[in-house]
Amino acid sequence: MAKIVLTADRSLMVNFPSTLYAGFLSCFPTRIVPELVYRRILRPVKANEDGTTNYPTLSLRQVESICIHSGFSRKDVIIAHPDHLGETIKEDTKIVGVTVVDPLGIGPETTFWTSVLGGVPHNRVKFAQLMGQIQRLKQKYQFKVVVGGPGAWQLSSEDRMSIYGIDHVVIGEGENVIPTLFVDIINQAQFTKRVHSGRVADVKQVHPILGPTNTSLIEVARGCGRGCQFCAPNVAGRLRSFPVEKILADAQVYLDADIRVITLHSEDVLRYGSKSLLADEDALLNLYKTLFSAGIRGAFITHANLTTFAYQPELIEKLSTMLRKNGIPGYGGQVGLETGSPRLMKKYMKGKCLPLPPDEWQRVVKDGLRVMERNRWFACCTILLGLPDEHSEDVKETIQLIKDVDERFAFYFPLFFVPISATPLGEQRMFIAEHALSEHWRLILECWKHNVKYAYKAFTLASQGKYPLLGLGLRVGMKSLYFQIQATCRKMIKQKESN
Ligand code: SF4
Repeated sequence: MAKIVLTADRSLMVNFPSTLYAGFLSCFPTRIVPELVYRRILRPVKANEDGTTNYPTLSLRQVESICIHSGFSRKDVIIAHPDHLGETIKEDTKIVGVTVVDPLGIGPETTFWTSVLGGVPHNRVKFAQLMGQIQRLKQKYQFKVVVGGPGAWQLSSEDRMSIYGIDHVVIGEGENVIPTLFVDIINQAQFTKRVHSGRVADVKQVHPILGPTNTSLIEVARGCGRGCQFCAPNVAGRLRSFPVEKILADAQVYLDADIRVITLHSEDVLRYGSKSLLADEDALLNLYKTLFSAGIRGAFITHANLTTFAYQPELIEKLSTMLRKNGIPGYGGQVGLETGSPRLMKKYMKGKCLPLPPDEWQRVVKDGLRVMERNRWFACCTILLGLPDEHSEDVKETIQLIKDVDERFAFYFPLFFVPISATPLGEQRMFIAEHALSEHWRLILECWKHNVKYAYKAFTLASQGKYPLLGLGLRVGMKSLYFQIQATCRKMIKQKESN
């Protein structure tokens, strides 16, 4: 069997039902989304007879590619299905590599839901279950456990490493750490440190993935460069776009698996190929053209910046026309709305608005959302609650902004500020429900009143009128979620205002 077994917990190794946003279900408490419902929506990926899977999460495919390109053979590395670890981890296993996103359920989205609804989130439960299994097998086979991925920062303390039986944590990019670390572990080197920081990789060091993933994601760039002080991807510095050849090779992997609809991933996909903070029209349109000529039929994106929509509307029109010609009637993307307060924009994220000044952020939000809607892009806007030094006046400005854009076909997701180590705000206090002002609860209510109104409309449009029963279920589910949010918000407002 393999020396290196890579895996992830059940909240990551799932089949996504037509939208990646379904993955946010893992942030919900188990008492709100029972296991039976969770398993019905997020079904586990298929396992092969030998306990491996062909459709893991992207990070595992990336680690696999790093290992193979650094000299390990194909038989040295396997990707194991989390329900079949007993079949894949054996006496010759030296390393079990685990990728994590929000293993303790303390990321911004999960903290929000557990604070508002109470209970334990699915992602925390699933991670603990996986690590329990790994620890039992570790006692038998004595391998080392290495954890990495975007949520690895949550596990870097000695206490947490010991609770979960983790030997090494890799924070940041893997290309410059994993090859040496894995060889040293296999050669039983003695380590003076167990938390390893991955230096930013050069684009030439990032190789194509060697098989498909459960998300059909293709990473097109890393980093950002806009400098928001709370943001983890910004730690990776300026935007580094990968060559078209690497992206095309990733696309070919999906085409070989008969997958023609993919999602392009970076912190700001529309800035692909750009050397500045503006989108580069030629580089972006050429990327899409190349993908479509190769046989891709739909290309969604993960993240973008509202400033691109507001400041470069002609580019958006050209891109949207091209996307429609290639078979997709509407698109979506996560954009950071963050706040309505120019003071906080100036203090923590003045680069988000560039080349416009932070004072213009409210206008950028309104224009950006209008351009998105006109071109049939659904916006999923994140809003950050509880930034350090946020006052009631700041929150009131955000409430007003949400009211101003209430007619837009967009979703507004309030999140709680979480200090992420290595960011400039990494030492600040985590925002929890007890810190929230009555205005924060009003803002949450405003956002969810809007979301419930638009959820069914969005579903009907996206499903083109098919699946009426599912639509009914969604309507009932959203209403009941809203009642719970409303009850908490009203209770908290009353409590805060009576103090
Ligand atoms: S614009 Fe977005 S990705 Fe870039 S630094 Fe700011 S929050 Fe991070």
